[in-house]
Amino acid sequence: MNKITQPDCIFCKIANGEIPSSTIYEDDDFKVILDINPASKGHAIIIPKNHGADLYELSQEDAGKIMGVAQKCAVAMKKALHCDGLNVLQNNGEIAGQTVFHLHVHLIPRYKGDTVNINWTHGEAEDAQKLAEEIRQAF
Ligand code: 5GP
Ligand code: ZN
Repeated sequence: MNKITQPDCIFCKIANGEIPSSTIYEDDDFKVILDINPASKGHAIIIPKNHGADLYELSQEDAGKIMGVAQKCAVAMKKALHCDGLNVLQNNGEIAGQTVFHLHVHLIPRYKGDTVNINWTHGEAEDAQKLAEEIRQAF
């Protein structure tokens, strides 16, 4: 099936083979490549072949498949890299750290003593019931 692409999108070009990349996995819908500026050894990114800027725009079909790809890659990466852990991360919006506006999922291998920092301070939950109700109403 033809893919939805956007001109001038770097990840569309990578996912569809117009720009070469260090590919670790590929199927009809996704390409998984090594990050050009890795947070750790083996840092990879899963790129859907269909363009969508972020999670809000990802098709239900690609959304349903992407964690399966992450799972397969995680198993292979653990075997090849002997990492001690792995973070799966996906940024939406500049405030969340997104810099490339074609959805992608980071697979960041973790090694004992590494300097990767994905921490936040835990706050106090306020009005959780009310908040949950507001979100339920938004579906
Ligand atoms: P974001 O900050 O949007 O979640 O992640 C974008 C990621 O894409 C960054 O980690 C960045 O290093 C990586 N990246 C940006 N351009 C390229 C590229 O041309 N090739 C590869 N392999 N990675 C890229
Ligand atoms: Zn794109």
